[in-house]
Amino acid sequence: MHQYPTAKHPLNIAIAGYGLLGRLLAWRLLLLGHSVTVYDKGRSGSNTSAAYTAAGMLAPISEAAASHPSIYRAGTEAINTWANWCRELGLSHAIQQQGSLIVAHPQDRAELTQFYRDSQRIADENTSMTLTMLNRQQVSELEPDLSNQLDQGLWINPEAHLDNRALLAGLDQWLQRTDVTIWYDSEVSVSPKQITDLNSGRHFQHDWVIDCRGAGARFDQPTLRGVRGETLHLETREVTLQRPVRLMHPRYQLYIVPKPNHRFVIGATQLESEDLSPISLQSNLELSSAVYTLAPAFAEARILEAGVNLRPAYANNLPHVSANEGLISANGLFRHGYLLAPLVVAQTLSILHGQNNLACEQLISQPHSEQATHEV
Ligand SMILES: Cc1cc2nc3c(=O)[nH]c(=O)nc-3n(C[C@H](O)[C@H](O)[C@H](O)COP(=O)(O)OP(=O)(O)OC[C@H]3O[C@@H](n4cnc5c(N)ncnc54)[C@H](O)[C@@H]3O)c2cc1C
Repeated sequence: MHQYPTAKHPLNIAIAGYGLLGRLLAWRLLLLGHSVTVYDKGRSGSNTSAAYTAAGMLAPISEAAASHPSIYRAGTEAINTWANWCRELGLSHAIQQQGSLIVAHPQDRAELTQFYRDSQRIADENTSMTLTMLNRQQVSELEPDLSNQLDQGLWINPEAHLDNRALLAGLDQWLQRTDVTIWYDSEVSVSPKQITDLNSGRHFQHDWVIDCRGAGARFDQPTLRGVRGETLHLETREVTLQRPVRLMHPRYQLYIVPKPNHRFVIGATQLESEDLSPISLQSNLELSSAVYTLAPAFAEARILEAGVNLRPAYANNLPHVSANEGLISANGLFRHGYLLAPLVVAQTLSILHGQNNLACEQLISQPHSEQATHEV
């Protein structure tokens, strides 16, 4: 990531949203010497962000089949940036770089073979990526607790996963040690240089406002939508996994992401709905039965939590950073928020530092040019 010198003229910057982008930008801007005020609609410790619900995978190839090429192109560099960021925050343990394993039941083997062929083309473009087909014995050597019915697997390197909740907490702790001001319980609207608290109606003036409200910005931005995702958080000592495991399945994609303390995030549904009500019985059944077929030892796992949140998405499911004098909007990270955050943070900082002629719009994507994909 480009390193900017400490600001000669520190700016008074407001960030709307204390989720993934809000925290990362607050951190980087404070390091550059700017003054930062954050506004979030959640209460302190209430974890309203998609970033908190997310599984935290950095999986450019595993996600490539259903994604735009920019997803995998961002890939390896994003993993390196995250490794550096975790080190800078004293959280090196929060990133694991053991690759990902994709498996299929024997009846779905053709899907895995096709996925391997498609991914191999991508890996050829990016020589640092390695795809290794594994037979039954190799799968069980890599992840001994998976079902011995899985007769093929695909090991993808380098992919990584984050302990995203430790990371969000670590960023919060870092920020709390600075003179940042964080206003919780503050649902806001944004306009150039101005934040409006929707509860009190009060206005707050800043040199710049950065809108990082994720799906919460959809009420002001008609082209932004929320895409519902549901996860299960399980705890068991009966299963150990070193890396995220995905199931190749014709109808839905299931993943299991290992977390510290014998926990696992099982995800995730992708529903074209902005409903934030609790997980449905059908989703629970599908996720639970699929995870059980992958590793029957999950049968005794305890369900600690069922997470539901909205992924912020534009029509083409790509991020979009735009700017007018005094207001930057960074949004649309969809299901790749962690993977694409380094790119979006870099883009936002470059807009802020090249601020002389900001009548223009800076795009990471062309948000209206493609159709959304509708998958479950
Ligand atoms: C189930 C699920 C699984 C996922 N798994 C992965 C994964 O494995 N890998 C990956 O890379 N990405 C994943 N994602 C995507 C990732 O979580 C998002 O892309 C990312 O969190 C978006 O970051 P953000 O900062 O834009 O929004 P958020 O992280 O959602 O943060 C937005 C913040 O804005 C606040 N806010 C909203 N409206 C207002 C308002 N009006 N006023 C004040 N504050 C407001 C919210 O309270 C929240 O704190 C997943 C998402 C979901 C839902």
